[in-house]
Parts: sequence; structure tokens; C-alpha cells
Amino acid sequence: MKNKQLLKQIDAFSVAEMERLGKENKVAAYFCRQFPPEILAGLGFHPARILSGAVPSAEREGEKYVRPDACPYCKSILGNMSLKKGILGKASIIAAVATCDMMRRTLDTMRKEFDIPIFTIHAPATISENTRKFFISQMQGLVEEISSFVGENFNSRKALDYFKSRKKIAVKLYRISLSGNVPHSVLSRLIHLFNFSSPIRLDRFLDQVIENIPKQKPKIKILLVGSALCMEDSCVPSFIELSGAGLVNLTCSGINQLEGYLDASASNGRGGTAECIAKFAEIILDAPQCIRSRPNNAVYDRIKSYVSKTGVDGVILKTLKFCDLWNTEKERMREFLGIPFLVLDTDYSGSSDESLKNRIDAFVETLEAPRNIQPQKSTKGTKQTRL
Ligand code: SF4
Repeated sequence: MKNKQLLKQIDAFSVAEMERLGKENKVAAYFCRQFPPEILAGLGFHPARILSGAVPSAEREGEKYVRPDACPYCKSILGNMSLKKGILGKASIIAAVATCDMMRRTLDTMRKEFDIPIFTIHAPATISENTRKFFISQMQGLVEEISSFVGENFNSRKALDYFKSRKKIAVKLYRISLSGNVPHSVLSRLIHLFNFSSPIRLDRFLDQVIENIPKQKPKIKILLVGSALCMEDSCVPSFIELSGAGLVNLTCSGINQLEGYLDASASNGRGGTAECIAKFAEIILDAPQCIRSRPNNAVYDRIKSYVSKTGVDGVILKTLKFCDLWNTEKERMREFLGIPFLVLDTDYSGSSDESLKNRIDAFVETLEAPRNIQPQKSTKGTKQTRL
């Protein structure tokens, strides 16, 4: 199957899933992968992670509510809430982990400005015995709160079924993500579906298309780290794809949100509701840590291990303007990794696309250069000619 045909098939499935979601009357939006969607499924909601809607009009609209120098992701959330666009326009509740100051302010603004119930917990930056217990108890409290709000008990069976289907998808997507041989245009669409579509339907769909995914043989591979990528925020990976390089997406919109499922197992639900909720909170705590964790040495070590595991030639750190989480790490990371490293600070306006493309092309060229130098033939006994 040609790439174009496959993209059409994925887009058609995606549109159908969005239409279905539009007809649901219980959609719960969440933002960060440090929130377990299984909890929302157990409460009878259709969980949908907001990694879409990153368009200039949403960002501009968001600036009516926060300062222009807020992070583009948070501005687009507020903009889409205001315009009632995309998944946020269909959400009946929001469940969030407060991960940074800007996200906390965004949630406060949403409470003030929009008529939507918001349930929040705090994700610990430092994992210890005490913070683990605290996170689990917050999760139990959140379930009670939402449960009394909707008048429905938490259903462990529903949460476990949701987890099992999602795990099956995560295993499949992780395998193809790791190779760096799958075009970003295909992979990003499939991973985006992981954020909002029904896992049962997506798993079936994946089985239909997975064998038809074209494989590239890129000479150069790049590891992408940094802020989460929204669906429309695709210029960096698209320019990498256009340059002919392969891409391994190690952001929390790529491999990081899949890996936590690989070795995770949830009990059969016989331990009761509290045990089931605790288990989903623990799965989040045991998943690869985010750069916001303190200390974050494990994040660095993990990136390094992916450099050798995937055999990439260079690393691109894509940050979002005014988001300090990744921005403040760039020099330490450059030094630590010790391989070609490029930092790209981006927003959703599209105004720097041309310069981003030039910088990516130049980076790929420098990575290719050593490979293009042919080993010199021995000149012993031959006359050298100067070209
Ligand atoms: S970068 Fe960290 S805080 Fe931000 S969405 Fe990803 S996991 Fe959450």
C-alpha cells in the first residue's frame, strides 16, 4: 500500500473517531501523561488527552486570558476552551495534574473563565515513599470527588479493560517507534489516535494497517527529545522526514507515553476499588520520569541509553517558547550527551518555519558529512593528482 493511501485510511479512521467522540456525552479531557486515563474510564468517561488544537488562532485567542509570554501549549488550551474547538469543545470535565506553574495558572484561569468542572491533583517532582503514598491518596480522593459529582461509582472492571486494550496498542506502537524507520507522517497520526480514540477500535484498526506501514532506510537517524508535540505542531518532525533522516520520538507524546505500559500489569480487580485505583497511580509513578522530576539524572541516563539502543546519529531538543521545563536543561544536556545536538525553540505561529527547516537541513548535512567522506585509497607508488 502506498504511503498516501495509508495516510488517507488513517485520517478517515481518525475523523470517524472524532465524530464518535462528539456524540459521547461523557468526555473527560486530560493533558499530561502523568494522569492515568484508566481512572476516567473506570468512572464511565471517554478519556481524551489534549495533544491537538495547536494552531495560531487558538494561541492568539489564549492571549486574551494570559500574558503573551505564556507557553504556547497553555495558551492554545485556553484558546480552544474559549472557541469551543476540538476535543476541549466536547469535554464535560477536565482532570489534570498540576505539573508546572503555567499549567497551574492555566487551570485557575479555566476555573474562573469557563463553565466546566475541573478536578486537579499534584504530581510529585520527587519520588519517595511519602510522595508515592501522597499521590495515591490524592488519586483516591479525586475518584471520590468525580464519582460524587457524576453520581456513578468507580468500576474497576471498566478501568482494567481499558488498560488491557491500551497496553496492547502501546506494545505495538512502541515497537515501530523504536526502529526510526517509519515515516513520521504515519507514526504521529497513529500515536495521536492513542490519545483520544477507543482503544478497542484502535487495536483492531492497527492490526489492519500495521503490515502496510512503509519502512524507510534512512542513512541518518535523529532522536527527538523535549516538550510534548501536539498533532499540528509537526514542522520539526516533518522537516526531519523531508530531509530524509529517520526519527525516534522520545517525547511524552511519543515513546515516553508508551513505555510505561510495557512492563505494567494491573490486578484482576478482585482486590477492590481502592487497590485498583492505587495500582493505576503506581503505574504512573513507575513510568519513565519527566524532565520536571527532581533530581532528573535518570531522565538524562535514559536519553543516553536510547542514543545507544537506537543508534541515532544526533539529538534534537525541541522546546516550546517560554516553557522552562526543557529550556533550562539545554546546556547541561548538550554537555552530557556528547553527540551532535541541536536546540530548536518553537511556537505554534509558523513564523519561524523557514529558519527551522534550514537549521534542520544543515544539522542533517553535518551528520551525513562523515559518512560521505570516502576512505582514502592508498597513494603508495601512485602519482597524486591535485583536483
Ligand atoms: S513534559 Fe512532563 S509535564 Fe509536560 S506534558 Fe510531558 S510528562 Fe507532562
